[in-house]
Amino acid sequence: FESRFSIPHLTDIFEDAATLPSTFCLRMRSPTEDFADGYPSDEKWHGYINNNDRVLLKVIKFSSPASAGAECIDPDCSWVEQWVHRAGPREKIYFKPEEVKAAIVTCGGLCPGLNDVIRQIVITLEIYGVKKIAGIPFGYRGFADKDLREIPLPRNVVQNAHLSGGSLLGVSRGGPSVSDIVDSMEERGINMLFVLGGNGTHAGANAIHNECRKRRLTVAVVGVPKTIDNDILLMDKTFGFDTAVEEAQRAINSAYIEAHSAYRGIGIVKLMGRSSGFIAMHASLASGQVDICLIPEVSFNLRGPHGVLDHLKYILGKKGSAVVCVAEGAGQDFLQETKAKDASGNIVLGDIGVYLQQEIKRYFNEMGTPADVKYIDPTYMIRAVRANASDGILCAVLGQNAVHGAFAGYSGITVGISNTHYVYLPIPEVISYPRVVDPNSRMWHRCLTSTGQPDFL
Ligand code: ATP
Ligand code: MG
Repeated sequence: FESRFSIPHLTDIFEDAATLPSTFCLRMRSPTEDFADGYPSDEKWHGYINNNDRVLLKVIKFSSPASAGAECIDPDCSWVEQWVHRAGPREKIYFKPEEVKAAIVTCGGLCPGLNDVIRQIVITLEIYGVKKIAGIPFGYRGFADKDLREIPLPRNVVQNAHLSGGSLLGVSRGGPSVSDIVDSMEERGINMLFVLGGNGTHAGANAIHNECRKRRLTVAVVGVPKTIDNDILLMDKTFGFDTAVEEAQRAINSAYIEAHSAYRGIGIVKLMGRSSGFIAMHASLASGQVDICLIPEVSFNLRGPHGVLDHLKYILGKKGSAVVCVAEGAGQDFLQETKAKDASGNIVLGDIGVYLQQEIKRYFNEMGTPADVKYIDPTYMIRAVRANASDGILCAVLGQNAVHGAFAGYSGITVGISNTHYVYLPIPEVISYPRVVDPNSRMWHRCLTSTGQPDFL
């Protein structure tokens, strides 16, 4: 069973190394020398994974080749199978632990579980016998900013890190160029880099991997996807998502209590989700207190006979109060484009929550029956909490597998859980575009059944 993707291995990088000038080979070991099959791993990991082990990402049996459509490569076949590389410890490892200097960096926004992943990476590196482990402060910025010193990460520094949210290393957006980052890595002698971040951070990690490749450096760059929005392709879920959905319940419940206790009360809760409405959809489904859920993937009208406002009027008449849950990226076409960008170049979205509050107030005022509209934006409260038990476990397994992947000699990869198994995927495959809610999916329809909302078009 061949993998759907081939994941980059450091030996591939040095195939033509013999033809290179010796300066380029400075820190290179020839694949024909002692690491041809890798060094033996001292540590017993309760079972090793073979490099050829595969995980079934997806299997579908279609009723006919026709219904399989483009998914079927073979016109006579009605099966689709996709296999990917299995994560885990290898019996033969690519790095001698005593020669490793590992660095960990966290970029982008906060997400529950960052400290759990950092902690587990450090613990696993120590088990392999790595002595030099450094934290890069405040994201990629920490590679270039002369005022920022790298943070030594012995076990005692990370031991209780998971008990609080945030990132003990700090995060940031923007920062130095890829070539400056790799210069700094060379100076510091870093040959394993663990990068925790979202799509931007992963684009950076892949660029760092390619730059190291270009410079013929034996450096393993391994990502751990951090997206609270759960918007990464091919993965069942990303860490922090579960915690976010759970924490969002408190905001929704407060909005409900406020709305329910007010005369003609309406509560609006804005949740994270720039391009994907997974948090809003799951939180609405879980809470059972949401009357209207609005996500970026599904367009809606506000005014008009089938609009959100008319439906709110209907709910107020029927129940006396209403709760709206909106993802931050929803309804952006109603808002003036801000044209503003953050330090990483991401477009700053308009505030759909404030807009909804104003429009709802105006609508009911115009009718002479004012509504009491309250708006809650719990974003920063949710991002900063510590991971719940389920995310804590996910973080631990991802952190361990990130280290196993680097020791196995992979670079330019990221770790994830696909179809309930832990896997390694090439970075470009998972960040080519964000995973979004399928408006025709059963899950979205379950959400609609739960809220009772119609199509707002
Ligand atoms: P979040 O989901 O919180 O937004 P993110 O990883 O997408 O996380 P960004 O602020 O977009 O967060 O990017 C994080 C870091 O990655 C920044 O330091 C930014 O400079 C860098 N970065 C973003 N895009 C690229 C890219 N295409 N190439 C190289 N570096 C990038
Ligand atoms: Mg991003």
